[in-house]
Amino acid sequence: MEYGLIGGHLGHSFSKTIHEMLTDCSYDLMEVAPEDLPGFMTSYPFKAINVTIPYKEKVMPFLDVISEDAAAIGAVNTVVRHEGKLFGYNTDFMGFTAMARSAGIGFEGRSVLVLGAGGAAKTVAAAAVSMGASSVTHAVRTPRDASQISLSGIVEPVEYEIIINATPVGMFPDLSGRAVDLRHFPRLKGVLDCVYNPLRTNLVLDAQEAGVPAAGGLYMLVAQACFAEDLFHPGETLGYDMDDIFRKVLSEKTNIVLMGMPSCGKTTLGRLLSSMTGRQWLDTDDLIRERIGMDIPEFFAGNGEQAFRDVESEVIADISSRQGMVVSLGGGAVLNPSNVRNLKMNGCLVYVDRALENLQPTEDRPLSRDREALARLASRRIPVYRSAADVIIDNNGQVRSTAERIIQHIGSTDGR
Ligand code: NAP
Repeated sequence: MEYGLIGGHLGHSFSKTIHEMLTDCSYDLMEVAPEDLPGFMTSYPFKAINVTIPYKEKVMPFLDVISEDAAAIGAVNTVVRHEGKLFGYNTDFMGFTAMARSAGIGFEGRSVLVLGAGGAAKTVAAAAVSMGASSVTHAVRTPRDASQISLSGIVEPVEYEIIINATPVGMFPDLSGRAVDLRHFPRLKGVLDCVYNPLRTNLVLDAQEAGVPAAGGLYMLVAQACFAEDLFHPGETLGYDMDDIFRKVLSEKTNIVLMGMPSCGKTTLGRLLSSMTGRQWLDTDDLIRERIGMDIPEFFAGNGEQAFRDVESEVIADISSRQGMVVSLGGGAVLNPSNVRNLKMNGCLVYVDRALENLQPTEDRPLSRDREALARLASRRIPVYRSAADVIIDNNGQVRSTAERIIQHIGSTDGR
């Protein structure tokens, strides 16, 4: 490894994908056990590395020179070897600043609440001050001094205007959490979450639903990688466009979730999108059939619709934690708001809009056996599809053209 990332557990790291978009150098992931860190730092002949949990502080004693920012924050995430010496930097600071700017969230004169007090929390607090925040308070599980408040104590309205999540709450694999309830923040002007997996945490979705500008941590991750590559290759102009790299990574990771009426083309489109993009295609009805071990009409007849919907929700919760898939949803999956919420964490919900006269009644679909049943279903479901959709794509023409428009949309959206 000449260039790469060291850390404890790197199984879900996006760093290789991002760094290899920035230069032609290969970038490797290396899990290092705590007892091997001293040997790695003193003997391994790397050119430059990034450092993640749990070593951002632990690498500091092995460095010859530490930048002012990194020393003030007390954490290093980038180490560069130059003329036999190791130089340490903190590009998370600039990464967070770039993320705030990209999200259009200003800090000037605003009171900031940082959730957590670990490495990322110290970094974002320093960045918030540098961007003009009027005050920065940390909310933690166990306050250690007067500058910290208790997370569990936030039960009444509080005056903070910006919230930054720098805890792992809401992060894969447990997507269900959020560290605070935003209803206690009546003056909220912005929410930034350092967590980037899922792409939109519950906290980010809560804010967006309340009309508050919010962004997940992917932009920070991309930006800190860009700044690190600049340090890896001093004197070279790498010529990247940070927004462009962000959109590319975001579109690669985003699930394309197809929803709409029975026979609107979700299955055909799912297969086609999979072959056009190389993404894996999943069909929730197929996954449900695997799980229940019988055909859906038979399960409906024997167990009723609610039992079917329960299995469907389990399948959707599993899919929602994955990334970069094409998913064809059963026609009624989005009737349950919690399915929609789960799917939005990593997915773009595409309503495949096909005119009623172009839909086909099918014997084997319990709720759309004939034209009248289809029309009744459409009047109930179309408003739900429209309100759940991130984008509505017409599918009354050539299916390839529909697929191309979906791919174009996924590649151009910035996820907010
Ligand atoms: P860290 O040093 O381990 O700090 C974690 C902090 O979160 C600590 O204050 C910890 O509190 C708190 N915490 C942990 N579990 C909690 C829970 N269940 N409820 C409330 N608070 C909890 O980790 P870090 O390096 O600061 O990273 C924090 C998060 O930021 C991670 O999810 C990481 O992936 C993310 N991050 C993202 C980027 C990016 O580029 N987007 C960069 C850096 C970090 P205690 O002290 O009470 O344990």
